[in-house]
Amino acid sequence: MAFSLSTPARFDGRDHRRGRHTLHVAGDAIAAHGQPGAPHLDLSAHDVTLLPGLIDAHVHLAISHTDLAEQALPPGLRILRMTRNARAQLRAGVTTVRDLGAPDGLDLQLRQAFDEGLALGPRYLLAGRPIVAVDGHCAFMGHQVDGVRAARRAAERLIDEGVDWVKLMVTAGLSTPGAGPAAQQLAPDVIAAVVEVAHAAGVPVAAHAVAGPGVRAAVEAGVDSLEHGYWLDAATITAMVARGTTLVPTRTVVRLVAEGVAVAGVRPPADVQATAQRAEEVHSASVRRAYDAGVAIVAGTDYRHGSLPLEVQLLAASGLTPTDALRAATAGAARLLRRDDIGTLAPGAKADLLVVHGNPLRDPRALDQALLVVQGGRVVLVHPDLGVPEVGALGFDDGG
Ligand SMILES: [Zn+2]
Repeated sequence: MAFSLSTPARFDGRDHRRGRHTLHVAGDAIAAHGQPGAPHLDLSAHDVTLLPGLIDAHVHLAISHTDLAEQALPPGLRILRMTRNARAQLRAGVTTVRDLGAPDGLDLQLRQAFDEGLALGPRYLLAGRPIVAVDGHCAFMGHQVDGVRAARRAAERLIDEGVDWVKLMVTAGLSTPGAGPAAQQLAPDVIAAVVEVAHAAGVPVAAHAVAGPGVRAAVEAGVDSLEHGYWLDAATITAMVARGTTLVPTRTVVRLVAEGVAVAGVRPPADVQATAQRAEEVHSASVRRAYDAGVAIVAGTDYRHGSLPLEVQLLAASGLTPTDALRAATAGAARLLRRDDIGTLAPGAKADLLVVHGNPLRDPRALDQALLVVQGGRVVLVHPDLGVPEVGALGFDDGG
């Protein structure tokens, strides 16, 4: 399928550009030139902005809410819930996700289902089962390791399974039974061993670390992205700058848990909500200090699927410029994911596109309503508010 699309403004992943611009799509990629006779959708008279499809760099499609009882459901049902969560991402304009942990190989199975065209979802980078301490954070889905030997074996196994990232649970979390979030659960030599095995295979490492000495230990061990980082001290931020560690703060999940918002019909328990309320106060300040020091910040949401627009708004509220907040969900995220073919509107990149009303740099709430979503050259969402019947000429594939 080939088509072209004209818009009055665009954000190309790095900068906002005004003025009528025509983007050409051929097959699954953005093309430098149009093809004769290809359909043309002219939105240049509409108040809309074209962007690259958004990238959510921290999700768990296998987790729908704080009630982990869902993990006892049979795997067929869990896979179907994952496809529902994947569609919620697409509807929000998210065309790529990095899944940072799923139980029982569900994410590997889902990737195969996507590859076979059995279900529609975002581009899917995954980490498989996270490496966790014995009875540690997310033990229910992780490779539980009791030392360096077991950690190396777990990392080797994950790489054999074909993961894109290796995920470590270095500290406890907001909801870890019996452990405060600052508790360090993986020792420095365990973290270092996993980083060594993964990097030797060319696989990057993401570390869940929310507070306490484990945050600094993860950075010093050379992980590529630090997830959450609610409490970041000055020495840790200095180390992140020196080592080029990216911060994926996941402001959204802390905000939603702190507010007691029900996710997929389940409200967070009261004690978890209280911890999140304490965390939110300092979390925003940590993001701001890291950003001011020059740490790369990337957008991720955790398990409220389709909430990336809120994350962009929260990053801006933490002090990122509107442009940097949007880069965190486009070109900046692509850089972390080592993918120069997404998060950009450059010819040759994947034709992952999002059209929204207005100007998301002037008002980030513009992202709240995706009007048109294209993934790999296929139109996967058309919102009635787009109000352009001719869009039908581009074809439509809802995966149903
Ligand atoms: Zn997570």
